[in-house]
Amino acid sequence: MTKITIFQGDITVQKVDAIVNAANTSLRGGGGVDGAIHRAAGAKLDKACQRLGGCLTGEAKTTAGFNLPAKYIIHTPGPIWRGGNNNEEQLLQNCYQNCVLEAEKHHCHSIAFPSISTGVYGFPLKKAAQIALQTLIKSNSSLYITFVCFDQQTYRVYQETLAALLN
Ligand code: ADP
Repeated sequence: MTKITIFQGDITVQKVDAIVNAANTSLRGGGGVDGAIHRAAGAKLDKACQRLGGCLTGEAKTTAGFNLPAKYIIHTPGPIWRGGNNNEEQLLQNCYQNCVLEAEKHHCHSIAFPSISTGVYGFPLKKAAQIALQTLIKSNSSLYITFVCFDQQTYRVYQETLAALLN
């Protein structure tokens, strides 16, 4: 039985084993949640990311959490929304699946996700919430999963989507 909690807040302050970064394929930091995580984790994160040599969309790579309360950061580049006919849904599903696999590989008990791809990458929020929650429910993982929604609209859509999926 998958345990999923949704709340509104800042992912960088979460006291969990791993937080997920909605990264870009260079892994060199950017805007949004990626920038916030790099700022909070400190400069050592960029050095560690450089050594990883980038990451393909939908895949996931792990670093230490450095100055964050979280032990690990799992970096996954989400798909950029290009109208929906460019494998965006499958790639977003891959992000969530691969992050769960990475967390399990590192023996994590808890993981926090941001809403991958729904910021600058433009993935429609409702569709993204459905894919995110459905994929995590289907993963049947024993991880404690938290969704950390930054803004109220994202929080509301994830809450409503989870309620609908459980009905
Ligand atoms: P993407 O490029 O994958 O779309 P963004 O960072 O632009 O990534 O946006 C993804 C989501 O992360 C958005 O809902 C955005 O509001 C949210 N976000 C931004 N900063 C934070 C933060 N500190 N904690 C959690 N979520 C955040």
